[in-house]
Amino acid sequence: MLVLGAGPGGYAAAFMAADLGLAVTLVDEEINPGGVCLFRGCIPSKALLHASKLISDSREAAGIGIDFGKPVIDLKKLREWKDHVVQKLTAGLGQLCARRTIHYIRGHGRFLDSGSMEVKGSEGAEQKISFDHAIVASGSKPVTLPVASASRRVLDSTSALNLEDIPGQLLIVGGGYIGLEMGTVYCELGAEVSVVEMAPNLLPGTDSDLTDVLHARLARHFKSIMLTTRVTKVEEEGGGLRATLQGQDGKISRQHFDKMLVAIGRTPNSKGLGLENTDAELTPDGFLRVDPQRATTDPRIHAIGDVAGEPMLAHKATHEGRVAAISLSGGKAAFEPRAIPSVIFTNPEIAWCGVTETEARKRNIRFTITKFPWAASGRAATINRMDGFTKLILHPDTGRILGVGIVGDGCGELISEGVVAIEMGARASDLELCIHPHPTLSETIMESAQLATGYGTHFFKPQS
Ligand code: NAD
Repeated sequence: MLVLGAGPGGYAAAFMAADLGLAVTLVDEEINPGGVCLFRGCIPSKALLHASKLISDSREAAGIGIDFGKPVIDLKKLREWKDHVVQKLTAGLGQLCARRTIHYIRGHGRFLDSGSMEVKGSEGAEQKISFDHAIVASGSKPVTLPVASASRRVLDSTSALNLEDIPGQLLIVGGGYIGLEMGTVYCELGAEVSVVEMAPNLLPGTDSDLTDVLHARLARHFKSIMLTTRVTKVEEEGGGLRATLQGQDGKISRQHFDKMLVAIGRTPNSKGLGLENTDAELTPDGFLRVDPQRATTDPRIHAIGDVAGEPMLAHKATHEGRVAAISLSGGKAAFEPRAIPSVIFTNPEIAWCGVTETEARKRNIRFTITKFPWAASGRAATINRMDGFTKLILHPDTGRILGVGIVGDGCGELISEGVVAIEMGARASDLELCIHPHPTLSETIMESAQLATGYGTHFFKPQS
């Protein structure tokens, strides 16, 4: 089996297939497996978000009587630590690959037909590989903003993670996952951050009660958040950039920034792979069309991860990778999740899984919600972070859990309970009957479930 692309989808597929006894070749341009997630995405950004959380936590500690003073930031050391985290994890994956005797080839792969691939190494060396089956796990790349020309002052998610310097004034175009996570990093490191989002709210598509809590905090720390606004022109100006911004009412403003980060979405890497030499079909959006086993329309080629459709999340890719590998090894497997968790690692974090309120309304799904405010949580009080809530989206007749949405400090660590509940077909009463440890934030899930029956412990709901 050949796997093209060694990100969290590709390496998980290769590892699983090798463990199931297949002879596996894994092709990627990097020296080790890891893909965008480890080299230029999830991992370095989370390392930097950890650093930014240390800064905000220590600043806020002054409010409870511990004053650390102004942090002294050694950018070089921070960069080196982040790079070390990446190096350690990717080298570890390289070792796991070797232990499984996977044939790892470094280079750019291109299908010659449905059974062979040409791989070009960085020094121009070429080799041809034949295979019985292939899994395409080529990922995605950032969408560029046509009005922002190539300039070292215009960053994308990759160059933003390099942390070359901390610009005085940073404009972020796109109030989505990357814009808000990297905005949080740069803001805590000392930049004045402005966000431009073309939709009427941050993180479009996410339940607005969740984003409102984040928006309220960001509004206190960012210089400005401009919604329903577009960047129509970007020019170099006096050692910086001049951006022309157009708001909802058509009003134009021109503002100066030192740098700009464009984070307006990602597009699947389905071009330049020789897919036209196979029978694999693309959707109009450029994704490979796949079935529940992740087989494309070419029976010898499977596809997983960002190139196989939304949501473009590493954990979805990993799961698909294992499904594809099991299926190609003759086992029975299908990609049919009820709940794919999403986590935005801002401060506070936002996490959800299953059906969202927004989606339920759109699809006319009947639902009821219960919401437990963190202001009523003992644990939230002891960590001085009561800005959050835990929401359950339930079937109105059975109390079955359809979705979970949480906003609050570190809530990304809580959402997996929601995933398990939904996948197991649990009802609110099941969560209510599970004893949760006190005092923890996980109790907010149990207490939200209690509200479904009408008898909460720490939240009084008058009985009618
Ligand atoms: P995104 O889709 O999350 O957000 C892009 C935002 O840009 C949207 O809000 C969109 O309305 C806005 N936008 C688009 N064009 C614009 C324009 N011309 N002017 C102003 N705003 C504009 O995309 P992203 O932040 O680039 O991230 C890409 C993908 O990477 C995400 O969808 C996600 O799947 C993945 N990701 C996940 C995580 C995580 O899991 N924590 C973190 C980073 C990235």
